[in-house]
Amino acid sequence: MKSLLGGKGANLAEMTNIGLPVPPGFTITTEVCTYFYAHNKHYPTTLAKEVFTAIQKLNKHMNAKFGDPKNALLVSVRSGARASMPGMMDTILNLGMNDVVAEGLIEKTKNPRFVYDSYRRFVQMYGDVVMGVQAKGKHDSDPFEMIIEHKKKEKNVTLDTDLTSDDLKDLVKLFKKAIKQNTGKDFPDDPEDQLWGAVGAVFGSWNNERANAYRKMNGIPTSWGTAVNIQAMVYGNMGENSGTGVAFTRNAATGENEFYGEYLMNAQGEDVVAGIRTPLHISELKKARPVIYKQLDVIRKNLEKHFHDMMDIEFTIQDGKLFMLQCRAGKRTALAAIRIAIDMVKERLITDKEALLRIEPDALNQLLRPIFDLKEKDIAIKNGRLLAKGLAAGPGAATGRVVFTAPDAEEWKSRGELVILCRTETSPEDIKGMDASEGILTAFGGMTSHAALVARQMGKVCIVGCSSIEVDYKALSMKVAGKIINQGDWISIDGSTGEVIEGKIPTKPSEVMEVLISKTLNPKKAPIYENFAKIMAWADKYRVLKIRTNADQPDQAVNAVAFGAEGIGLCRTEHMFFGEGKIMPMREMILADDVDQRKKALAKLLPLQREDFEGIFRAMDGLPVTIRTIDPPLHEFLPHDKEMQQTIAKEMGIRFEKVQRRVQELHEFNPMLGFRGCRLGIIYPEITEMQSRAIFEAAANVMKEGKEVFPEIMIPLVGNVLELDHQAKLVHKIAKDVMTERKMKFKYHVGTMIEVPRGALTADKIADVAEFFSFGTNDLTQTTIGISRDDSGRFLLPYVEMDIYAKDPFEAIDREGVGELMKIAVEKGRSKKPRLKIGICGEHGGEPSSVEFCHQIGLDYVSCSPFRVPIARLAAARAALKEVKKK
Ligand code: ADP
Ligand code: MG
Ligand code: MG
Repeated sequence: MKSLLGGKGANLAEMTNIGLPVPPGFTITTEVCTYFYAHNKHYPTTLAKEVFTAIQKLNKHMNAKFGDPKNALLVSVRSGARASMPGMMDTILNLGMNDVVAEGLIEKTKNPRFVYDSYRRFVQMYGDVVMGVQAKGKHDSDPFEMIIEHKKKEKNVTLDTDLTSDDLKDLVKLFKKAIKQNTGKDFPDDPEDQLWGAVGAVFGSWNNERANAYRKMNGIPTSWGTAVNIQAMVYGNMGENSGTGVAFTRNAATGENEFYGEYLMNAQGEDVVAGIRTPLHISELKKARPVIYKQLDVIRKNLEKHFHDMMDIEFTIQDGKLFMLQCRAGKRTALAAIRIAIDMVKERLITDKEALLRIEPDALNQLLRPIFDLKEKDIAIKNGRLLAKGLAAGPGAATGRVVFTAPDAEEWKSRGELVILCRTETSPEDIKGMDASEGILTAFGGMTSHAALVARQMGKVCIVGCSSIEVDYKALSMKVAGKIINQGDWISIDGSTGEVIEGKIPTKPSEVMEVLISKTLNPKKAPIYENFAKIMAWADKYRVLKIRTNADQPDQAVNAVAFGAEGIGLCRTEHMFFGEGKIMPMREMILADDVDQRKKALAKLLPLQREDFEGIFRAMDGLPVTIRTIDPPLHEFLPHDKEMQQTIAKEMGIRFEKVQRRVQELHEFNPMLGFRGCRLGIIYPEITEMQSRAIFEAAANVMKEGKEVFPEIMIPLVGNVLELDHQAKLVHKIAKDVMTERKMKFKYHVGTMIEVPRGALTADKIADVAEFFSFGTNDLTQTTIGISRDDSGRFLLPYVEMDIYAKDPFEAIDREGVGELMKIAVEKGRSKKPRLKIGICGEHGGEPSSVEFCHQIGLDYVSCSPFRVPIARLAAARAALKEVKKK
């Protein structure tokens, strides 16, 4: 239903079906949008007639007539894509209005103020959305708002609601004049022209910049298209007995089970979210209009029962009568998502499986993020640095430098600055800048304002409705608490309490980090941690994939195990060579003239590497540890500036010219495809021998301490089975030697990375020798697509923007290309060894859609950085659950 009618249309139909009061209307489907773009912006030939028939029906239903001056029906034209895109597409209200219709409506309602308020709103929206009259630059104001401001000054009033019907009538004239001046076109008076203009604009807005940016950010395909909903108007602006509101069926910031929303009397449409007047909390409605509140509260519970989810609703009260205008699954913070999911399982509204499917894996990041150090914050407040308090709309702590426009936020961020975006209010044009900011602060708007909604979805720290700040966009400063805060000044905002504080405040680890990593908090006293732990326990129940981690040091390994890692999928040995006391013997080894010299240097490295491996084996205590033999090109270990080369020469007692020459010799035109990976161990077998010996001696030592060990030696960059065969033989020989020397036995495996296409294509042959595979998807992506990741900056981003690749292939596995090679490798590998253990250790191992793909092609495990382990656990569970659902 949603794919055809769009989210809004489908849910309007759904609400009507369950007996809720919804104004009648009809929907032009997304198929028409697809047709529109496929046919050079033309409609299907039957559309006009179908719309005409539908309008006839609507007329009958409403006992009025679209375009009839005496008894006019006005409609709203609303866009609605399949996935909800808040504020992305533009809606036009009160369509069908013109001078004659207005007179007729006054006759009928005896309420000229209402009529001209509706009229001026219509001209304003239509002028903006259809005729394109908008603010010109980032520091300019909206031309219609400027006219309104001017009018208010002239009349000496502050609120829109204080304007009289004559003022509003005058605004209509002024608006139309501004439109004519800006576009050279007359405002259309014919309701039918208005209707088609609006429909075209909705379809057109599917492709505007901000809609495209939003889709990109949220992975919504351009091909889906939007629907258009045409609906009879109900009026919240008829006077003090009318109003409009938005609400969540539960608290969207914390997840608490309480009605959470805002409303304004004598208002229409977006007034509540636009932040023009600060709206009232829904609890006020309970006092002011108990009957309506009661009705809404029943609807809230019914909606949750029907949709089994927390819903975001829009309603309008027309002359004391309640109408529902929209409902959709509510956006929420990660904190809220987790709490709501767990509560709903308790309330038996959903199962634990559904709960897992409700929580986006990446959202768990929010639970790991730092919070303010409360002591430091108290001190700051005692010292008079509290600037203001607003509404706590997006929890968390953020410190950054003040900027006032979205483009500035983007620019500063690109320079590596942390910024807090401070605005009177935000609008959909600002989303890229919001994304670039650590936190968002607005003067106006409530908990359901644009800023709050988008910030929560992005997981940004956010404070809204902070009415004591006065932003001056021209001066690039804001006035607050008698102080002037300029662009570039530091502020700190606490999105959990609404406090805005001058200067920087140190942060501290979150509850989850305190319990698991620093172990400074008792889990029983950490409710957020407890929810986290519950989700993880459910995830572990359903996931099939094992989760390992990429770690080179014992402390990293310990953290990863605390996060639930079940082994190390990639231990890079080269990082170890940069450790204390190791780089010199490493350089000696590289600069050696012959095998003997090289062996001498390697002998110095052996005990050092052995110690590293012991630490890791101890930390992992019997869990598998995959250790990769040396991989990067050797020149990475040598200094490239003259001074350092001289120092080395001196320290090693050799001539500077020799160092210089050797560095030159090692220079490569294309190091990514050069002398690296197993090629090093094949040309210099003594390196692999040393590394294997270090591993096995460490294993023997740790076993002696009574611990279990399970090393897996992994040979990188293998494209030909003979490469692996060469290295595996060396490793097996050393293993045998160490076992004999130590008079003991240990388990170990020798396997390979699959990271060049030839390796994937000949995986059956490679499986004859390998005891496991691990996909190195970073290199596999580079070598499959033929892109060097380090040089891709200039074109890959534009590629993604142009949709050549839907996502950055270094972020999410390119399923069509790289993924296909992975499938081939799995199939061929397991044709030889049906139970061949296969994992992935590239960066992709912690990215949810890639984890899903790894599940689908039957890998045994994914390996990712320690802090992504929880995300991978949840992603793996969701992949398993989605698969069952499909079957
Ligand atoms: P969005 O996609 O941005 O949520 P909507 O289509 O929901 O836009 O419309 C914006 C506002 O206009 C909403 O707050 C809604 O309440 C109001 N609105 C839409 N249609 C009607 C209608 N038929 N009668 C009264 N108000 C309407
Ligand atoms: Mg809406
Ligand atoms: Mg690699």
